[in-house]
Amino acid sequence: MLLALDTAVQFLKGVGPRRAEAFQRMGIATVEDLLYHIPHRYLDATTVTPIAKAVVGREVTLVGRVVSKAVVPTRRGLRIFRAVIRDSSGIVECAWPGQAYLDRIIKQGQLLLVTGPVKHYHGRQVVPKEQVVLADAGDEEREDDMVRGMVLPVYPATEGLSHRQIRRLISDHLDQMLKCVEDTLPECVSSTIDVLPLRQALLALHRPASPGSAEAGRRRLAFDELFDLQLVVARARYLATTAQKGTRFEIQKKLTTALKDALPFELTAGQRKAIREISADMTSSDRMHRLLMGDVGTGKTVVALFAMLLAMENDYQAVFMAPTELLAEQHASTVGSLLAPLGIVPELLVGRLSQGEKQAIRERIADGTARIIVGTHTLIQERTDFWRLGLAVIDEQHRFGVEQRAALIEKGEVPDVLLLSATPIPRTLALTLYGDLDISTLRQKPVSHRPVKTGVRSSNDRAAIYGFLQEQCRLGRQAFVVYPVIEESERVDLKAATTMAAELEKRLAPLSVGLVHGKMKGEERDAVMRRFRDGNLHVLVATTVIEVGIDVPNATVMLIEHPERFGLAQLHQLRGRVGRGSAEGHCILLTDDYSATKRLKQFARTSDGFRIAELDLKERGIGELAGVRQSGGFNLRYADLATDDDLVNAARRAALGIIQSDPDLSSQAHTKLRARIGRRYARGMELFRVG
Ligand code: ADP
Ligand code: MG
Repeated sequence: MLLALDTAVQFLKGVGPRRAEAFQRMGIATVEDLLYHIPHRYLDATTVTPIAKAVVGREVTLVGRVVSKAVVPTRRGLRIFRAVIRDSSGIVECAWPGQAYLDRIIKQGQLLLVTGPVKHYHGRQVVPKEQVVLADAGDEEREDDMVRGMVLPVYPATEGLSHRQIRRLISDHLDQMLKCVEDTLPECVSSTIDVLPLRQALLALHRPASPGSAEAGRRRLAFDELFDLQLVVARARYLATTAQKGTRFEIQKKLTTALKDALPFELTAGQRKAIREISADMTSSDRMHRLLMGDVGTGKTVVALFAMLLAMENDYQAVFMAPTELLAEQHASTVGSLLAPLGIVPELLVGRLSQGEKQAIRERIADGTARIIVGTHTLIQERTDFWRLGLAVIDEQHRFGVEQRAALIEKGEVPDVLLLSATPIPRTLALTLYGDLDISTLRQKPVSHRPVKTGVRSSNDRAAIYGFLQEQCRLGRQAFVVYPVIEESERVDLKAATTMAAELEKRLAPLSVGLVHGKMKGEERDAVMRRFRDGNLHVLVATTVIEVGIDVPNATVMLIEHPERFGLAQLHQLRGRVGRGSAEGHCILLTDDYSATKRLKQFARTSDGFRIAELDLKERGIGELAGVRQSGGFNLRYADLATDDDLVNAARRAALGIIQSDPDLSSQAHTKLRARIGRRYARGMELFRVG
């Protein structure tokens, strides 16, 4: 039968309805999907340690035949699966605590691969983190391959479809499948970058001559997905900045200079640079579409205010949008006090106002009486008519993805846009998620701010920690206690957080304790937060919902339970909630997980948000970085942003070049490219609809 990329896997020889269903569960429906289902690891003779050489204290990969096995109960009621494996150099025992079910899967005589630490327990014992059955009893072929130095691909597998079955299927059909592959990379791009042709890359991934050659294959797939993504963001950037003209503001030096003179402090060098970059955008005829990125407390609001005043002195309105009502109020009060010496009062548009009040504000916005407006995203986006809107400042944009940003600016009259983010991220990631934006960064904090003192403690210190908390509250300070709630165990976690709040109330009496969590209604949560902000609660127990920005200058303690369950960037966000006033801030990480202590101590020593984001990216990859998951769902399968800088840069350059010459990819040379983007980033493709 003749294969095509869109042939259903079910029609491949060796795949029946049952296997097709298992493939479906892994998201594999077609021949193309199967080709792009690449091994997650490779085995070869060089990565395997002879059993005799497995030393206590090391992580090893061993391959051996199972010579005996048993399920052994322990005194504490745990059941351990044990197997002894043998290779030509020796034998060793492997133990899987609590995994008695393996007894049904692993059989005597099978060739088994295990990876894990070698422990000392009646001699050597391996405690595998991963195990793979390489061959059944009597099947000697694979063992020979390994010995001859062949690289064996190991595929992600699922119930009803083992990695061996997948390997066999791919291996049987690979040559035929590769014949359908067509390279869509335009010649002008492939000639400038150092990656393999597509067919060669896929071959190297599925049938590598060495593990190194598989890596070369991965780089090609990584480049393709980054390139497609960069085409989408380059297109968004084109639409945002050039497709429609922006306002050409003029530097008037009236209000902006007055503000500079009235500020109770000197601007930092970073703030001055950001203001220059913003002014340059605003005075050009292209529309500004810029992101201002900086840790909490680096002074983004002041910078944004300069931009707003530049709009205002050009006889335009400027609006400042926040994700929640509480944050909008906070911004209105900051902006209000900074503007007070200039005699300007910002309008605040939030949901809790009466219909009549809201109506009155909307009228002032429509007739131009209101020039500086602060409010929530939703209120401002819905039914608000502006007299002359020149600038929109959007706070906490990480909730927006590329397409949402594009939708926002496509609506109606188009102002310049300045987005603020308190989640610093590494450059490679910024180019990926925010490639449609120009970026200004604030790295330096105003001198008056001391770093938050951070310590790692264990439950043994609990009494002392509570003592410290009480002491701080007696001094008139306030404290946050954060408890993680992760999706998989939400019910149990929420119960734990609730129990914790009740227990703290008892232990810390007469201090008052409040609780906020993600399952509460918005108003309910805002009400508790308000009580805390206004000083009517001493301690606030919270799941991570406080992450996004409440400012309580009087709070000095951030106690985080189970910090090992958070990413470093998230911990950093939490830590930024304290020490915002004049008193020193304290962040206490309370954990009994000793395996996490090292990274937590490293975190404790570091106060630079960018540095922390880099560590986090290396540790956990793109998907887990704070706020990134919600922001557009770009799921990179092959690229690794922690290491693929060169590919990101090359993809970026190539994409900008192509979009510049052919903004909607309508030329003959780009039709295949267009089709591929559509398949990969269906939502991003919306941006290419013409008309
Ligand atoms: P961000 O929004 O980046 O978290 P803010 O703009 O809210 O930070 O600023 C944090 C605090 O620092 C505010 O109280 C602000 O008035 C103050 N601040 C801003 N810039 C400076 C500066 N250059 N020197 C001293 N204090 C500053
Ligand atoms: Mg802020």
